[in-house]
Amino acid sequence: MHKYEKIEKIGEGTYGTVFKAKNRETGEVVALKRVQLDDDDEGVPSSALREICILKELKHRNVVRLHDVLHSERKMTLVFEYCEQDLKKYFDSCGGDIDDATVQSFMYQLLKGLGFCHQQNILHRDLKPQNLLINKNGELKLADFGLARSFGIPVRCYSAEVVTLWYRPPDVLFGAKLYTTTIDTWSAGCIFAEISNAGVPLFPGNDVDDQLKRIFKVLGTPSERTWPGVSKLPDYKIFPNYPANANWPHIVPKLNTSGHDLLRCLVISNPTERLTAEAALQHAYFNDLMSSKSS
Ligand code: ADP
Ligand code: MG
Repeated sequence: MHKYEKIEKIGEGTYGTVFKAKNRETGEVVALKRVQLDDDDEGVPSSALREICILKELKHRNVVRLHDVLHSERKMTLVFEYCEQDLKKYFDSCGGDIDDATVQSFMYQLLKGLGFCHQQNILHRDLKPQNLLINKNGELKLADFGLARSFGIPVRCYSAEVVTLWYRPPDVLFGAKLYTTTIDTWSAGCIFAEISNAGVPLFPGNDVDDQLKRIFKVLGTPSERTWPGVSKLPDYKIFPNYPANANWPHIVPKLNTSGHDLLRCLVISNPTERLTAEAALQHAYFNDLMSSKSS
């Protein structure tokens, strides 16, 4: 730990604390995520090990880079590239307005990072503004893979508690156990709307019921006709039959017509109809782009 000099605390994590720090030799500024180990625990928590294994493999400009792992008896420190802020803090500092080019750029980068992860058979499963980091060059990076997991072979019993409620798709809210990449593209859609509205969340539900109600009031209550198999999901319950009623120009007034269309294709209740990250990147919304576009 002598290698790094702590500068300040920047976040309180689920397993420990995140610090801004400086490499004493090179002067490089990094983020240290310290994982405190319980006294009665044997070594490193499996959730942290998962994060490390996944992140070590993931090298992409839109995925936060894990430089190093430091290990002592009772604690472990992950050394990440430093990013100036997360998207939640960015919202707080933007003064209620984010310009069109930035909305487009953030969304493009989010889908780029996501497409890369999905290509490597990795789901994030907890996408939300706090887990998207932004550096001083306006680069957006996916972070916090503590809950993510490889999914090469179908896995039956993923836990039901994965994605933070507001960004959770209806299939997961109905208890679907077999997750696919579509869980992340729903979250990306919710985040798209939230960025466009400068930090106003799309579906800020209070509990599972309220969350589903908010979604169905906009998209319409699904039926076996619109979503075959929905009534067989483990936690399925009947909701009032809301008509499909999405007034996108009203919900996301600052997006243009192709932006409305992209959002509509991401937040679709039936997961089999949801756009993939790869396909979303080809959407007309990104046609006339922005200087920051790169491979
Ligand atoms: P947790 O699993 O507890 O949610 P995170 O990895 O999401 O932990 O980190 C918690 C917070 O710390 C983030 O929301 C972000 O504000 C900050 N943070 C995490 N990693 C970095 C980083 N590399 N650079 C800057 N801030 C970070
Ligand atoms: Mg987090």
